[in-house]
Amino acid sequence: MILDYSKERSVAIQAVLTASKVCQSVFQHLVANETLTKNDKSPVTVADFSAQAIVNTYLTKHFPNDPIVGEEDSKDLQGDAGKILREKVFSLTNGVLNENEKLSEQQILEAIDRGNYAGGSQGRHWALDPIDGTKGFLRGGQYAICLALIVDGIVQLGVIGCPNLPVDHKTPSSERGSLFIAVRGYGAFQRSFTNEKETPIHFADISSTKEAIFCESVEAGHSSHEDAIKIAKELNITRDPVRMDSQAKYCSIARGDANIYLRLPASKTYIEKIWDHASGNVLVTEAGGKVTDIYGKPLDFSVGRTLEKNKGVIASNVSIHDTVLKAVQKVLNI
Ligand code: AMP
Ligand code: MG
Repeated sequence: MILDYSKERSVAIQAVLTASKVCQSVFQHLVANETLTKNDKSPVTVADFSAQAIVNTYLTKHFPNDPIVGEEDSKDLQGDAGKILREKVFSLTNGVLNENEKLSEQQILEAIDRGNYAGGSQGRHWALDPIDGTKGFLRGGQYAICLALIVDGIVQLGVIGCPNLPVDHKTPSSERGSLFIAVRGYGAFQRSFTNEKETPIHFADISSTKEAIFCESVEAGHSSHEDAIKIAKELNITRDPVRMDSQAKYCSIARGDANIYLRLPASKTYIEKIWDHASGNVLVTEAGGKVTDIYGKPLDFSVGRTLEKNKGVIASNVSIHDTVLKAVQKVLNI
């Protein structure tokens, strides 16, 4: 029997929905000087810290022995230098928690630092990106709260909350706030933030790449737009790419809004992080898709906090994946 991870699934849904709420609340109250700059120059906000504190608190309550690989640590919130930010995180986090769930400043810092696990190939651990697509978040575009359970190096469960993604992409004015859920062997599903009813999702059926729509990062520094244009030409794609931040790209192809996700290395040295791909990986697989790197290798989540054995990401319907991969390799000359 394949494990259905039903308790993990429902805890992850609750954690992601509450973290999404804090992100929405921070966005509404966002003031420019609440934004820090990390070494890697991607903006980090109060919302990252609050979302990680919330998710880690839920996980630790229900699965106290499970380690967590989370993107953030509490360094910038410590001591006198972190006081203002710490107080903001404290009030925003508690602002979305129920009376019996409220956290002290110390509990918040400890919860955030539970995300310091090194990852690896043994046993269970969670991977969390509290806000994937921080840039999208700051510009009011797409961003996602991404949580995955990895067991012995394989992603078994993925939950992705996309607060700004319309539930029905054909009706952009439809309710915003889409939640995506997948358990390995049990399919991929979508629901809205407000209604528990889940609908199965799957890739759009296309017979040739000619009709395909591909999606890629908004940031050319995260995925080469230049190479994507050449690949699209190879594949006879005529439609404009859909550019969006975050793992909402995996969600979009999994439910058939678009067909291909290209993440083409823009730098020779960048190594992808597991929290940027773990939930999307199981979601796409369960929706009838295939994910590999640019060499055609599956993404290897068993080697730590990064995907150091892989380069780039290519995701599409199983039926066209080989064709897409060939075009990628021809253009990249690999
Ligand atoms: P996206 O929203 O698809 O542009 O991806 C956002 C993620 O890109 C962030 O969470 C970062 O971890 C990651 N990132 C940062 N620098 C790079 C880079 N040079 N190449 C690829 N991904 C990057
Ligand atoms: Mg990210």
